[in-house]
Amino acid sequence: MEVISVIIPAYNEEENIQLIYERIVKEFSRLPYDVELLFINDASTDDTLDRIKQISSRTSKVKYISFSRNFGKEAALFAGLQYITGKAVIMMDSDMQHPPSLIPELIKGFEEGFDQVIARRNRKGEHPFRRFCSSAYYKVINKVVDVDLEDGVGDFRLLSERAVKAALSLNENQRFSKGLFSWIGMEQKMIDYDNVPRENGETKWSFSNLLNYGLDGLVSFNNRPLRACFYTGAFILFLSVVYSLITFIHIVQTGIDVPGYFTIITAVLLLGGIQLLSLGVIGEYIGRIYYETKKRPPYLIQETNIMNGVTYGKNR
Ligand code: UDP
Ligand code: MG
Repeated sequence: MEVISVIIPAYNEEENIQLIYERIVKEFSRLPYDVELLFINDASTDDTLDRIKQISSRTSKVKYISFSRNFGKEAALFAGLQYITGKAVIMMDSDMQHPPSLIPELIKGFEEGFDQVIARRNRKGEHPFRRFCSSAYYKVINKVVDVDLEDGVGDFRLLSERAVKAALSLNENQRFSKGLFSWIGMEQKMIDYDNVPRENGETKWSFSNLLNYGLDGLVSFNNRPLRACFYTGAFILFLSVVYSLITFIHIVQTGIDVPGYFTIITAVLLLGGIQLLSLGVIGEYIGRIYYETKKRPPYLIQETNIMNGVTYGKNR
């Protein structure tokens, strides 16, 4: 039987490990495939790793990689993709928000020959404010970036071996999976599902996390924000020059009248603001260059049952 891999990043999910394991195995028991489950423990501070080890000691289907510290879900997914051996891979969260009941449908898409079978979630039952923010974000971002980003489309998807290789060939350090998977393209199929609340525990996304994630999405794919700064700056500069010329001519003709406190302060503030904004955007890109040039591994492995003593490596 062919093997299909499932990657599950887990950060403080002790109550969910057994549950998700059982649900996935149950789905696969009805399918003509062997499952390879790869848990990525993102340095959980609770009992997550022990729970995973308990399961993996009972079955060779379950493998795990445990990070040396919290590297984030993006790094966990990347690590997972590097170590799986299946003909296809499904990535899913450990909190049951990515319903295992969709697995057969995902695999059906794979059998039909699609390289990416993407699960798309609606935002049923989500807080209206969050709904509003995300829909506004996706409207803006799709105007700006080169890749297609769709609301409700995340990393819950199946990738064929080919797509996995493609995703791994993008070995940038600052990963924005959603965009990277979209960037590689290939034959894609969408499957819709209803948003479900998390089973146990709490979301790890704070508001500031979400803001940072949003910014990553914006600057990960092209330098248009940098351009926008340049053009805004140029436009403001042009206006300032015109304004100064007019004022100068006016002074030459009629002499200095009331000292223009208002105009000066407006100009200073406006320019100051534009400059700071531009610097910020430039800084954002330079920051990225800085991280990428360091060529640090995106994660470090503390322990795993895949190979002994690996600290960093890949088998693909
Ligand atoms: N996760 C992770 N590392 C982190 C944060 C989250 O591996 O630093 C995992 C988490 O265990 C879960 C998935 O990523 O399996 C999604 O996290 P969460 O449910 O908190 O995000 P949400 O569903 O709220 O977007
Ligand atoms: Mg969740």
